[in-house]
Amino acid sequence: MNLKDHIRGIPDFPKPGILFYDISTLIRHADAWQVAMGRLAKVVRAHHPDLLAGVESRGFILAAPLALKLGCGFIMLRKRGKLPGATVGYDYDLEYGQDRIEIQADAVQPGQRVVVVDDLLATGGTMAAGIKLLRKVGAEVPAAAALIELAFLKGRDRLDVPFEALVSYD
Ligand code: IMP
Repeated sequence: MNLKDHIRGIPDFPKPGILFYDISTLIRHADAWQVAMGRLAKVVRAHHPDLLAGVESRGFILAAPLALKLGCGFIMLRKRGKLPGATVGYDYDLEYGQDRIEIQADAVQPGQRVVVVDDLLATGGTMAAGIKLLRKVGAEVPAAAALIELAFLKGRDRLDVPFEALVSYD
């Protein structure tokens, strides 16, 4: 199955000039969803994770069922102020301005292997921040994964771990 047949590009979202790759059509198609999760499970399993970390919010859609499939725990990397209890944050630069992601301070035991999962890798800024945040709380990060890679943005060059993607756009 070609997963690209189930991903649509929506022009001018969220702002003019941006082509947004939408996974809604893939995840509502039972067979495509099943195939995508099976393929992701195969590539992520090879990195022997103890935990999968999903990046809010579409990363959660993939990482939580994937964790169940692999027999791993699931942890959340969330936007500022969403997580209860003690948190640790990481600030990172966007094209215009800054953003912050947070994790619960006790989410990871030192040395646990955590693979970060998101729906899409664009510039790589979000994924790189996720990796840095996980290391800040003591995780070992053997790999990162996404359903889609916008290869022309060279986001994977910003990551210092192996990166797995099922679908790539040039
Ligand atoms: P990056 O930090 O530039 O790599 O952007 C990746 C983040 O932005 C991910 O969390 C994605 O969910 C989101 N994102 C950027 N472009 C798209 C897109 O075309 N479709 C879906 N999500 C996108």
